[in-house]
Amino acid sequence: MLFSYPIDALGDNWLNALAVDLMLAGMNAIDDGAEPAAWPGCLPANRREILAQRTGLRSKLACLFERYSQLPMADRPDVQAAIIRQAALPNVFNDNAPCPTIHSLPQSIREPASDLATYLFGQLSSIKEGNGFLRDNQYSAIYASKIRVCPFCGLNYFRAPGAPRHALDHLLPISRYPFAAADLRNLPPACDECNSTYKRAIDILVGNDGLRRRCCDPYLGPTYRITLEGSEFFNGNEIGGYTLPRWNINIVGQEPDRAHTWDAVYQIKTRYTRDILDADFLSWIAHYSRWFIREKGRDHDAAAVAAELPRYIEGVVQDGYADRAFLKAEAFRLLDSSSRDPQIGEDVRQWLWGFVEYAT
Ligand SMILES: [Zn+2]
Repeated sequence: MLFSYPIDALGDNWLNALAVDLMLAGMNAIDDGAEPAAWPGCLPANRREILAQRTGLRSKLACLFERYSQLPMADRPDVQAAIIRQAALPNVFNDNAPCPTIHSLPQSIREPASDLATYLFGQLSSIKEGNGFLRDNQYSAIYASKIRVCPFCGLNYFRAPGAPRHALDHLLPISRYPFAAADLRNLPPACDECNSTYKRAIDILVGNDGLRRRCCDPYLGPTYRITLEGSEFFNGNEIGGYTLPRWNINIVGQEPDRAHTWDAVYQIKTRYTRDILDADFLSWIAHYSRWFIREKGRDHDAAAVAAELPRYIEGVVQDGYADRAFLKAEAFRLLDSSSRDPQIGEDVRQWLWGFVEYAT
């Protein structure tokens, strides 16, 4: 991720933990030969009022408990271990230990576990706390913190609270990890493109090689920055009759294995290369040319045109993530350093001068 969400946005994140407590308490009672505590007495006093009328929760828990009580004693510890482990966020993002999926559990328990997960997830949009529903409160807190751009790609803007929302992203897909379904920590907002085109139901905890992998915690990182160091001018794809640089995208930061997961799931390098740098570089150069002429007039040479690049980067390219500036600034830094390169500098300066000369 490029940046992380404020931890305060998790202020109303109690539903999943409460459900886990209810599940484990009921299962422990069953293991002891007793009945799970009766409804609504089983609910913690501070949430009893808000949950007591939610008969869906009651019936889905009862169904899960019934199936659990029918399991042989030997199978039960695995069920409880899976609940505890799946719900152990953010540890599951941060460590490399296994995290059992629903598919590792006895068949009979899977359906009631999934039903309960779907119900709990829905309750995030149904339970009110303060001014809004739990899910909306999380999004409003993030938006209020001035985050306007998706931190998984940095390319797409978020809509304001109240507008039709982007789908929330289950980092740990509900189909495999139902016991983290209603944990807001597992539900960081992401743009439609990241969610629907790239992340989808991919298991972020397991790579294509079948091995466990770590990922970024959307609230605590680590986060990464992008550089284009190692890119080569005149060596990339041909677009509109021009040979573009061969883009070398570096994801810079601590714990590169987590950066690798980010790129593998969200296709970061591919998207930056294909959708932004290859697609936009020539229009960025055209803008630079018009800016140069406005600032300096037409009566200049290739060296003068290249010499203004640092001032353009400093004064004209936006900061941060607005308008994809984090990539645009890097592309201009590459242009600037290439224009001073002892081998190709003269060619790069002439190339840039060509745009200025013919700019309209
Ligand atoms: Zn995105």
